[in-house]
Amino acid sequence: MILILSPDAQPDSTEYRQLLDHLGQLPKIKTRIHHEKGAQQTLTEIYLIGDTASLSLENIESLPGVERVVRISEEYRVLGRHKDDHRPTHFEYNGVRFGQDNLNVFAGLCAVDTPEHVEMMMKALRDHGQVCTRMGAYKPRTSPYAFQGHGKACLPWVFELAGKYGIKVIAMEVTHESHVDEIREALKQTGNPTGVMLQIGTRNTQNFELLKIVGRQREFPVLLKRGFGITLDESLNAAEYLASEGNRNVVFGLRGMKTNMGDPHRNLVDFAHVPVVRRLTRMPVCVDPSHSVGTRNRAPDGLLEIFHATMQGVIAGANMILVDFHPAPTKALVDGPQALLMEELPLFLECVRNAREAYEKNVRLLASASK
Ligand code: PEP
Ligand code: MN
Repeated sequence: MILILSPDAQPDSTEYRQLLDHLGQLPKIKTRIHHEKGAQQTLTEIYLIGDTASLSLENIESLPGVERVVRISEEYRVLGRHKDDHRPTHFEYNGVRFGQDNLNVFAGLCAVDTPEHVEMMMKALRDHGQVCTRMGAYKPRTSPYAFQGHGKACLPWVFELAGKYGIKVIAMEVTHESHVDEIREALKQTGNPTGVMLQIGTRNTQNFELLKIVGRQREFPVLLKRGFGITLDESLNAAEYLASEGNRNVVFGLRGMKTNMGDPHRNLVDFAHVPVVRRLTRMPVCVDPSHSVGTRNRAPDGLLEIFHATMQGVIAGANMILVDFHPAPTKALVDGPQALLMEELPLFLECVRNAREAYEKNVRLLASASK
């Protein structure tokens, strides 16, 4: 059960104290308090955990300071959508809105290589009105002998270039606690020219200790990729780990499932799950067509299969696209064969806009039909 308190409930008020005293006396019930700081006000939620079935909704709702009570009917306590649950399905970070009602494109390099390539990418994004990108500094690789990413060393110049071209959010994978500290330190050192969305890769979806660490910090939002060999439910529970530790600014990323049934794609594209994740949870949903499709094969209509998969995700209601681009794919240190080319960026963005418009048109059509 979740108690949503009146906005700006003061933790030092008598009302608040009385409420906590009362809740503390309920048998077999533990409380967990979450404060969500917004621009205008702070919202407080109290989670009642344990034997809540016997509690009456009306009684709890009449307690001092309580505005609304939501009975948790499903799993995913914090991030799930529950009956009569009107909690937000969006958040804002560094001036960019991430919600189930909008769409952001994160086109960029799978792995940071040279300052020239990073600058070419960021300039192209600025020239096409984009404020987000992806830049991998820490790369989890199958072979220990493969390039592992430039790590900490590249962060200052990557962040400075982002600032130069007005990039507000960089999706960047972290595989260890120390990476979060290194990112925070480099941002501070360069005067916070940009923001970072910490990415948990598919290989770490169930690295519970990493999830707890990333969930405990609330400075950076998180993109959690679906695990490539586990059920959707298991991956959604992984997202809940982040939220249960305090960070609910989580985007859920679909990136395909590892199985030969997806051949000749690198993974089996799973974008039909976009509406499912939106139905089960309040998280914005990201699709990654590059790691799902994994090749630059072209369909007879002339469009790359990566374009097709992207549009399938967008028309299904996706809220974020994570996609690999590279100015010189043959020189890319990671995933060159799946990278889109700089000159393909305007067409890619146009296809995304068209698919988004088609999605919105379909939603409006349904709304007007049901009036
Ligand atoms: C990536 O986005 O660079 C990546 C490694 O993705 P995934 O974790 O989905 O394989
Ligand atoms: Mn990659």
